[in-house]
Amino acid sequence: MTSGGGRKRSAELFARASAILPGGVNSPVRAFGSVGGTPVFMASGNGPYLTDVDGNRYVDLVCSWGPMILGHAHPAVTSAVQAAAARGTSFGTVTEAEAELAAEMAARAPVERVRLVNSGTEATMTALRLARAYTRRRLVVKFAGCYHGHVDALLVAAGSGVATFGLPDSPGVTGASAADTVVLPYNDAEAVRQAFAERGDEIACVITEACPANMGVVPPASGFNELLAGLCGEAGALLIMDEVLTGFRVTRSGWYGREGVAGDLMTFGKVMGGGLPAAAFGGRAEIMELLAPSGPVYQAGTLSGNPLATAAGLATLRECTAEVYGRVDQAAAAVAKITAEALTAAGVPFRLQEAGSLFSFFLGVDEPVRDFGAARGQSAAAYAAFFHAMLDAGVYLPPSPFEAWFLSAAHDDAALSQIESALPAAAAAAAAALG
Ligand SMILES: *Cc1c(COP(=O)(O)O)cnc(C)c1O
Repeated sequence: MTSGGGRKRSAELFARASAILPGGVNSPVRAFGSVGGTPVFMASGNGPYLTDVDGNRYVDLVCSWGPMILGHAHPAVTSAVQAAAARGTSFGTVTEAEAELAAEMAARAPVERVRLVNSGTEATMTALRLARAYTRRRLVVKFAGCYHGHVDALLVAAGSGVATFGLPDSPGVTGASAADTVVLPYNDAEAVRQAFAERGDEIACVITEACPANMGVVPPASGFNELLAGLCGEAGALLIMDEVLTGFRVTRSGWYGREGVAGDLMTFGKVMGGGLPAAAFGGRAEIMELLAPSGPVYQAGTLSGNPLATAAGLATLRECTAEVYGRVDQAAAAVAKITAEALTAAGVPFRLQEAGSLFSFFLGVDEPVRDFGAARGQSAAAYAAFFHAMLDAGVYLPPSPFEAWFLSAAHDDAALSQIESALPAAAAAAAAALG
């Protein structure tokens, strides 16, 4: 422990939370299910650090799963939110900052119209509805291992390696809502070509993570996103580029800034909310204008475009300059490098996959990971051992091996050296777990 204080209060709070919140949490991955142990209750954040309720300080490599690209409690964001709160937290009317945030997004990413919502799940859910309405078709194509939120039709994964019609991944998702979802293996150009050859005139849309990072980081093979755009275009289907995680993080626009492949519809979240609940979808005007009240496709939200969320999002995006992206990229490259060195020194086989500032490690794997099947070949036990050793040394990693590690512009030399000193013991723990 960084302060030597243990995590007694976290344990007490988790017991109390578990009596009222299912699993003690409000989002499953926070529950440490894949690494074991008791979740850490955080009390505050500052720059690259989180402090827990027992007073232990951690270098944060989760960054709220992406949003905190400037670090915690950035002064510009904090003061924008405080000023907005002092003016009133919600009016249920139109407000000036909504169009400003949308315009800032449209200046960065290839979208002509934007609708603000509250979560990435809402964004992808409505993008599907819009795609089906626009094309008057049923089928949605998604890729195994790509996460798009907990939308019924998207909570479907494939039997490994085979193009298959979806079976629901979760009880409560009916066969009917999964039946119109076609799940294909990621990065498998042939499977996509075949799906279009067989059912192209029934496909409303293909939805894909612009660069998958919810099965660990699995970048698209060269030309894969372009192929999706081409096949959709020929078949009259829409391409939905999910940039909820990558948008405004990996470049000033998102993954689009690296590959230049636009979706007909694009979804955003995380960074654009600056740590408050804001997300969005956008795209070509002729499609977006189908949305109510311009058109017949219904979508609404009591708190959509909330004044605190738009203030946090605008302040965050305005701070996200080329210099900030440079610092995030540098910090990510540095952490990836020192971690790879420590794992190598400890004799742990691993695969490091990087896509700009996004990266993750697959422990116990030494082949390139191109799809979900390969991602599942990593050693969960080795990651759990590594995770807990890092935690005890004051570094907070994603509590799951299927997540990217997130850096911010606030991760400075002091934070990096704290990570560096934690690594040898953690790498040794991973080596021991591999046996
Ligand atoms: C986080 C995420 C979502 C879901 O966003 P929520 O705000 O958690 O609903 C959707 N797509 C991708 C790619 C994500 O990373």
